[in-house]
Amino acid sequence: MDNNFDVIVIGSGPGGYVCAIRSAQLGLRTACVESEKTLGGTCLNVGCIPSKSLLNSSEIYHKAQKEFNNLGIETRDIKLNLSKMMENKKKSILTLTKGIEFLFKKNKITHLKGKGSISDKDTISVTGYSGKKTNYKTKNIVIATGSVSTSLPGIKIDEKTVVSSTGALSFEKVPKNLIVIGGGYIGLELSSVWKRLGSNVTVVEFLDHIIPGMDKDISTEFQNILTKQGINFKLNSNVTAVNVIKNKAVVDFTNKESAKRERIECDKVLVAVGRQANIDETIIEANIKLDSHKKIEVNKKFETSIKNIYAVGDVINKYPMLAHKAEDEGIAVAEIIAGQAGHVNYDVIPAVIYTSPEVAMVGKTEEQLKKENIKYNVGKFPFLANSRAKVNNETEGFVKIIADRKTDKVLGVSIISVVAGTMIAELALAMEFGASSEDIARTCHAHPTHSEAIKEAALALSKRAIHF
Ligand SMILES: Cc1cc2nc3c(=O)[nH]c(=O)nc-3n(C[C@H](O)[C@H](O)[C@H](O)COP(=O)(O)OP(=O)(O)OC[C@H]3O[C@@H](n4cnc5c(N)ncnc54)[C@H](O)[C@@H]3O)c2cc1C
Repeated sequence: MDNNFDVIVIGSGPGGYVCAIRSAQLGLRTACVESEKTLGGTCLNVGCIPSKSLLNSSEIYHKAQKEFNNLGIETRDIKLNLSKMMENKKKSILTLTKGIEFLFKKNKITHLKGKGSISDKDTISVTGYSGKKTNYKTKNIVIATGSVSTSLPGIKIDEKTVVSSTGALSFEKVPKNLIVIGGGYIGLELSSVWKRLGSNVTVVEFLDHIIPGMDKDISTEFQNILTKQGINFKLNSNVTAVNVIKNKAVVDFTNKESAKRERIECDKVLVAVGRQANIDETIIEANIKLDSHKKIEVNKKFETSIKNIYAVGDVINKYPMLAHKAEDEGIAVAEIIAGQAGHVNYDVIPAVIYTSPEVAMVGKTEEQLKKENIKYNVGKFPFLANSRAKVNNETEGFVKIIADRKTDKVLGVSIISVVAGTMIAELALAMEFGASSEDIARTCHAHPTHSEAIKEAALALSKRAIHF
């Protein structure tokens, strides 16, 4: 095997594998080292893909139970076969991880199997599954080691009773009572899955609102929707202890306002309080500079503090920690290494929560604009007044467009809709092109579609919405 490369990427998540493919496309001799048995990182193996598989299956199950009858579809004896649902999830993961193997072969990327460490700024040492160490020379290194789940002080994740998202994607039985610590997107997606499959779900959140970072309007409406679906919320609540007693857990928390203490017993606890950069000894030993959050510091060209060592994805000091952000950084860094002008526009990175309805946003929220003292106008349009949503019985949610008061340039968009994740792409494109709300209002949108609500929200900015 050739032991000399132009680029070696450490980690094959969306940041790493995409960087490897783009590097190879640009004619660079490329290798990607991965310590797990399958390619694809968190995203494909224990993140985006398995969670979306379970969200999809559980939604169909829920609809078959609760909604089919109203549509005139009569069904009998709808039963859950959880192990089959999990098998389907595994099949999706396998197809996609194999797909990356295929893409590596197609692009002549060397897949180095084992744990990679930086022995020198031009040498990667790979410890294979048998323990054998091999050194590879390279002109450039890209660190894409991703992130891992965090916990709270004193709370130990055993992946049996107290689980991270990884454990909650593989329960063998539907827990009767599930407590989810953390009302962010991972906690809420998994709350939805297990609620639909039959659990009593309580979300305990430290802040006074869920989905921190999203528009407050959206967060309030979304919480109302999830509450109607039967998910319980304990906001403003500080979890003080989680104790496991004979396969059950007891969660103690204190309301931060009233100081009232509560205790809930449950079968499983999901700790979904965030993720931290996966900084292993290889990065520490290479003396790569980290920021105060223990993430790798990179400049605009994704260079670390050491020449020819770059980093992308969840491991770096750029947010949000999402797969498509990692992919775009992977492409940009490959282009920069090849002498091109790779670039990521952090102002236009969409974020989606794949519940039902979905929640999506791109750009700034009202709260951010207020902080930045930027004057703006808001246009809102509810799905209650959108014909497609009405015929489909999907009237929850709205589109909210925020535009600069002076220039009318779109600054941010938030959507709650069953297809918000798909709809947000139009707004990301509009923002990349510097569109004004008037540009969107004058763009013809097909009828009847949920997307007409985008045009109407743009019209609503100047009080010209037609259907509301
Ligand atoms: C439950 C869940 C659901 C999610 N859903 C979404 C979603 O719907 N949409 C979205 O955009 N994002 C989602 N995310 C986030 C997304 O998974 C991450 O943002 C993304 O995977 C980050 O990509 P990455 O390439 O930086 O790192 P990762 O995907 O974490 O990959 C890092 C890889 O590096 C490997 N590695 C680490 N150290 C070494 C080493 N020394 N040698 C060799 N290999 C090494 C790891 O084994 C891993 O395979 C979700 C995350 C979770 C946990």
